[in-house]
Amino acid sequence: VFVSFEGGDGAGKSTQSRLLGEWVQARGREVVLTREPGGTALGHLLRDAVLHGDHVDARTEALLYAADRAHHVHSLVRPALERGAVVITDRYLDSSVAYQGSGRDLGAQEVEDLSLWATHGLMPALTVLLDLDPVLGRARLTGDPDRLERAGDDFHRRTRQAFLDRAAAEPARWLVLDATRPVDEIAAQVRDRMAALLER
Ligand code: C5P
Repeated sequence: VFVSFEGGDGAGKSTQSRLLGEWVQARGREVVLTREPGGTALGHLLRDAVLHGDHVDARTEALLYAADRAHHVHSLVRPALERGAVVITDRYLDSSVAYQGSGRDLGAQEVEDLSLWATHGLMPALTVLLDLDPVLGRARLTGDPDRLERAGDDFHRRTRQAFLDRAAAEPARWLVLDATRPVDEIAAQVRDRMAALLER
């Protein structure tokens, strides 16, 4: 079973990924917790290039994320799924469609096609959107902001709307949750949906 968490920075994706992972593991399943960008050693280099490189234009950015995703799926996600593990990733293809497709205006369809090519079409069975006003998300972040975290409010508003639109268009895959709710309440809602998936 392949699950992704999506949403803006500071929405709680890594916390909720971890909590779901612990719960699934307690039910006796192997869990692989991972992230994009940077879920592999090569991905770590690509993450550094895209977030801190100089003169990274929108297309270069989209291709670096796609390269990270191709390698991530090939070397980590698919092998884990093939041996029956539950894979939980903090960000996946929908981040690219929202950030590069809508935020950077490259076009949602083009960016989705690029990612589908990169991954041989692998899509999650469940995608949890932790929806949050980007202004609130930024206030929750600690440490030095990277290049993208410093992008303007309009960029982050377009990105948030793109996630919401994708979720509305494909409700069977998505679970949309209000990221301002308490951590435990969100975790319980994610577990309910996951329980149904594990029973299938
Ligand atoms: O989620 P994480 O903090 O690891 O993401 C790193 C940065 O990359 C964030 O600022 C996020 O907004 C951005 N990002 C992006 N396009 C993606 C994935 C992440 O702009 N496809």
